[in-house]
Amino acid sequence: MTLYLYNTLSGKKEVFEPQDPNRVTFYACGPTVYNYVHVGNGRSAVVFDLLNRLLQKLYPNVIFARNITDVDDKINASAKEEGVDIKQYAERFTEAYADDMQRLGNQVPTLQPKATEHIPQIIDIIQRLIERGHAYESEGHVLFAVESMDDYGRLSHRNLDDMLAGARVEVADYKRNPMDFVLWKPSSDDLPGWDSPWGRGRPGWHIECTAMIMHHLGETIDIHGGGSDLVFPHHENEMAQGKCCVPDSHGYARYWVHNAMLDVEGEKMSKSLGNFTLLRDVLDAFPGELVRLALLSAHYRSNLNWSEQLIHQSRQTLDRLYTVLRDSEDLEPDMPADLLSLEAIQALLDDLNTPKALAALHEASGRFFKTEDKAERARIKGEIISVCGVLGLLQEDPESWFKGDGGEGGLTEDEIEALIQARQDAKKAKDFARADAIRDELKEKGVVIQDTREGTRWSREG
Ligand SMILES: [Zn+2]
Repeated sequence: MTLYLYNTLSGKKEVFEPQDPNRVTFYACGPTVYNYVHVGNGRSAVVFDLLNRLLQKLYPNVIFARNITDVDDKINASAKEEGVDIKQYAERFTEAYADDMQRLGNQVPTLQPKATEHIPQIIDIIQRLIERGHAYESEGHVLFAVESMDDYGRLSHRNLDDMLAGARVEVADYKRNPMDFVLWKPSSDDLPGWDSPWGRGRPGWHIECTAMIMHHLGETIDIHGGGSDLVFPHHENEMAQGKCCVPDSHGYARYWVHNAMLDVEGEKMSKSLGNFTLLRDVLDAFPGELVRLALLSAHYRSNLNWSEQLIHQSRQTLDRLYTVLRDSEDLEPDMPADLLSLEAIQALLDDLNTPKALAALHEASGRFFKTEDKAERARIKGEIISVCGVLGLLQEDPESWFKGDGGEGGLTEDEIEALIQARQDAKKAKDFARADAIRDELKEKGVVIQDTREGTRWSREG
């Protein structure tokens, strides 16, 4: 089976061929832990979690690393503003990020290296860059010399002259070229710092990822992922450092995969959606799986509009899939012999085409509802469960999905059950007006009931 990925470096969709199928290496840029992350960061995390899950179906050993940037001027400034210790401040948001990832249903990456735990490796790479004539020291800073590299700009498809013309780079007289970027900078006593050949200081952002990649994964990795906002300068600079610090480099990263942005401001959102921009707030308001599906609903290279309609549609999609599970509780799923040949998985193998995969799931659930044939229903159930396993969906029990949690001001499960019982009693006593009144009351409070042969079912409205 072939996996296709769009490679930013070539500007084309390519067949993915790992250097070593027994050790696939994959790195995605993680958060700078100075605040709760934006829902857009959630999109990136979910997309790369999906890619990681898919790679695991294809290769026996996938090493997926996502870093934590825990030394950064934004962390320093925020901690100072709050009057707390910088390290503790960074730890608080590192934990919050892990919690957000878990609620989104993301797997824990194989490795989660922290920048502050790789200072010797960072210093080593900077020294090698200086020795090889790609970096220089100036006024306590060490800078990467972009002109020392023939193809600087290759990843972001721009050349140095164009960059300079449109540059909004910091002009500093310690730079030889305005595009030269910082590898190391001096720290005053009140800021985090480490001893180095260039005095007490701290690393720049780009060098952290390069050092962690080369230390844990190797000189050239298979896949490097991140948001499209990171292509320039972050990834361009990472690649420059990674290629220039070793002789005969094989290119630092072979496939560069970038997800498009989430458009939150594009639409005015109503109060019910809360105009949330922090992932944490969104996860407090909606089930994690719903948020996950919403973030996966557009192709990862297309912009995604975060809207009330998106939430509503995602709820409907999940309700439909969970209905399949609920309606087949007595059926053992017949799992597909060849997962990779399923239409939905084929779509994912084609550059993570999630809209097409979701359409295939919709079609499969349609077939399920149309047939009474038990063997066929068991087969479709197996198909849906296995595809959703790769997507990280349907991880809940259908009953608990439909019952959800009432949220603030809603009816509790016990209250709902009591009202349903009261309605049953009213019906038995032939007090149909009372029974209808209870149904209306439940509906008004967002609870839909359905009378079936097995009794009355209820679910909360999305
Ligand atoms: Zn990075």
